[in-house]
Amino acid sequence: MYVYADNAATTSLSPKALEAMLPYFTEVYGNASSLHSPGQRAAEALLRARETVAGIVNADAREIYFTGGGSEADNQAIISGAMIGARKGKKHIISTAFEHHAVLHTLDKLKKQGFEVTLLDVHENGVVTAQDVADAIREDTALVTVMMVNNEIGTVQPIADIGAVCREKGVLFHTDAVQAVGHIPVDVKALNVDMLSMAAHKFHGPKGVGALYARKGVVLANVIEGGQQERGKRGGTENIPGIVGMAAALEEAAGDLDRDMAYVTGLREKLIEGLSKIPHSKLNGDREKRVPGTVNFCFEGIEGESLLLLLDAKGVAASSGSACTSGSLDPSHVLLALGLPHEIAHGSLRLSIDRMNTEEEIDHIIRSVPEVVDYLRNMSPVWDELERGLTPHLI
Ligand SMILES: *Cc1c(COP(=O)(O)O)cnc(C)c1O
Repeated sequence: MYVYADNAATTSLSPKALEAMLPYFTEVYGNASSLHSPGQRAAEALLRARETVAGIVNADAREIYFTGGGSEADNQAIISGAMIGARKGKKHIISTAFEHHAVLHTLDKLKKQGFEVTLLDVHENGVVTAQDVADAIREDTALVTVMMVNNEIGTVQPIADIGAVCREKGVLFHTDAVQAVGHIPVDVKALNVDMLSMAAHKFHGPKGVGALYARKGVVLANVIEGGQQERGKRGGTENIPGIVGMAAALEEAAGDLDRDMAYVTGLREKLIEGLSKIPHSKLNGDREKRVPGTVNFCFEGIEGESLLLLLDAKGVAASSGSACTSGSLDPSHVLLALGLPHEIAHGSLRLSIDRMNTEEEIDHIIRSVPEVVDYLRNMSPVWDELERGLTPHLI
């Protein structure tokens, strides 16, 4: 048995999404900007996809801008918020210490251009509060950007409350909802957001396509200059197969969200219960305020990389930290933001499951992880010292 439990990194393409996409690679290959009928058929598909995506997040079709993925949507939202603020002399941005690098690195770039950035502490439970945001807002705050669901630990932020604070203070608010859309309800109006990012490949759509919701009246800045595509805000011939696949995958994911959430939550509870039995382990992030499918554990005395390789050999695809940082030996910035010591943050394991996973697969994970942890601890000099009481246990 091989279990794919790394859905926060990417998901499989759903057969329905694939089927919806196929004609747009072959028969319907027109450029949606062309006036002839092949072009117009592509343009119709684009409009339908836009209406579908908009409908599911309770937006107007004209408020949806398709992008080349979640990172691009984050970049465009933040740069837009910064530019809108700068025109009014506002150059302060608020975010959190555990955002995705698509957000953090864009903020770093803006800092070099004279913006000031406040990164809020995410507390031990990995949840910022609306009060934290309210306390940080200043006269010159241009933008607040807080992710809806953290990609490494799965905690859900109080976006609607933060949005209400921002609206009251007249500050633009963006949320990176890449880990939320397709997994929990996302309603742009109920969430009080001005901009929201999503990515198709995190909900069984294709890779390299995403969308940015921008509320009517929010004037986006271009990240990609070109033609008049996406109401002039994102140049480049539209990826029609990708966009059609995104809409089909989202429609499927939203189809029976309540049932799927209950099902995945059930699997997750079983997973948490099973893995919590491992001595000197710790579930990272708030126990309750979390997305159904993502769990993150630390195991003392364990090195994340070896854990992943041995788990892969046992038939479990997991991750330590985000896919973007797992190539480096630095501990995850997310776990450090929770206040975990370096030596603990190194031994983290993220398992991200969703509606495609089965109970048998969860059983396989619960059997495999303790075996691998035991094996690694038995040959670890660090663990030996901990067990002999030469160094104190941290968890
Ligand atoms: C995956 C992810 C992104 C990046 O999306 P891409 O489509 O891979 O560019 C951004 N933010 C979060 C929270 C993510 O999980």
